[in-house]
Amino acid sequence: MKEAGENDASIFEIHTMMLEDSDYQDAIESAIRKGVNAEYAVYITGWDFAGRFNEMEDEYMRERAADVTDVSRRLIRVLAGNTDDPLKNVKEKVVVAADELMPSQTIKLDKTKIAAFVTRGGSKISHSSILARSKGIPAVVALNNGFRKLCDGGYAIVDGTSGIVILDPDVITSIQYTQKEKSLRENKIRLEKIRGTPAVTLDGRRIQLCCNIGNPEEVQAALESDAEGIGLFRSEFLFLGKRAFPAEEEQFQAYRSVLTAMGKKRVVIRTLDLGADKQAPYFNISKENNPALGYRAIRIQLDRVDLLTAQLRALYRASAYGKLAIMFPMIVSVYEVQTIRRLAESVRKKLSEEGTPYDPNVELGIMVETPAAAILADRLAAEVDFFSIGTNDLTQYTYAADRMNSKVSYLFDSGGTAVMRLIRRITEQAHRHGIWVGICGESAADPKLTEYYLHFRVDELSVSPPALLGLKAKIQSLRISSVQDRLDKSLE
Ligand code: PEP
Ligand code: MG
Repeated sequence: MKEAGENDASIFEIHTMMLEDSDYQDAIESAIRKGVNAEYAVYITGWDFAGRFNEMEDEYMRERAADVTDVSRRLIRVLAGNTDDPLKNVKEKVVVAADELMPSQTIKLDKTKIAAFVTRGGSKISHSSILARSKGIPAVVALNNGFRKLCDGGYAIVDGTSGIVILDPDVITSIQYTQKEKSLRENKIRLEKIRGTPAVTLDGRRIQLCCNIGNPEEVQAALESDAEGIGLFRSEFLFLGKRAFPAEEEQFQAYRSVLTAMGKKRVVIRTLDLGADKQAPYFNISKENNPALGYRAIRIQLDRVDLLTAQLRALYRASAYGKLAIMFPMIVSVYEVQTIRRLAESVRKKLSEEGTPYDPNVELGIMVETPAAAILADRLAAEVDFFSIGTNDLTQYTYAADRMNSKVSYLFDSGGTAVMRLIRRITEQAHRHGIWVGICGESAADPKLTEYYLHFRVDELSVSPPALLGLKAKIQSLRISSVQDRLDKSLE
């Protein structure tokens, strides 16, 4: 198992103490004096100390074996000059264990080297988990104290479907999981049969199935999973893991490649949604007490109009190559939408003056992901061409339960009555004004909620590529007319 990050203060303290321990230092020094190189000296000392800790009666002391192994491994890495990419020399797939993975780190993970990742903190709705799902990497997060038991170099089963990590599994467990993996693979093959068929229920209710992506490379996975379009391209992922803001030209190239690949299929690109857990270091967003309620998404863009203008220019230029729709995140008022529309109009005017081609019919829509937007859905629907419901944020703000905080995850219920009533209301208002409405939060793929969405007549669900065909199979098995009374009753 490889470790990608370590923030916890108490672990750092223990590691520092070990590094400063005179017995540990003396043992390394004496090994070097015997003629071995420094890395090997650290290796045999770490191994020897870990063995001694392991034999101690006291449980606390026994647990220190993992620490001394860990600290020695890090020291060897530094001595060998491998401080940059901890996976650089990895030859076979590994499980990455980290305190926390930020989206800027997750996005850089090389899928070919990673079997799974596990984290002490985090949550299922964090952007790192969302990225893992869309890359098809099994992940288990919020291990909390269980994380202490992980150790370097062992074997582990990471069952992302049920959130279980099994260390050093016995033979029977390994066989059981090999079978589980096999049946998941077989199920995937069975799903291939419905590729190309429409997502329609037994009683004829049709819904569009699209994919969420975070970068142009994921378009292929979206197409392979039979997506009818891109329901959400999180453009901010282009901005993470960079040294500076991608310029208009770089953005244009990325958007154009997605639009070209998708051909006639609609691509909804969301403007920059930075802030909260999505931080770009070069942007220097100052630390806030409540970042999810603070300077993020459209608030940054309306403050930094230069950034929004560059992004809109790149988007409109790319619109000449496919079917683009532009979406704005974290809207709370009609005023914001009107300001954006004016700006978009001035960008279009400038492009026309320059003679730069663009599609004049690009749809402009908003994420409905704040209670304010849901409550104002009637007024907002009159201003835009479509709604896309962001159930991740809508749930967090409705229940006042931080989507990143596993301690309050029991409150975070995207299928709870409060959120479902909001979705019903948003959809009704959208249709009253003749605009389409999609859902692009993680709960769009939740099979327990599919019949509700169909009953509300949501027009589109946008999910991670690996979830699409399973969701289609679910839709094709439903008969909404026979359950709608029960669904209505459950929300009374
Ligand atoms: C959402 O909030 O549901 C959403 C799709 O956007 P994000 O997860 O990027 O905040
Ligand atoms: Mg959101």
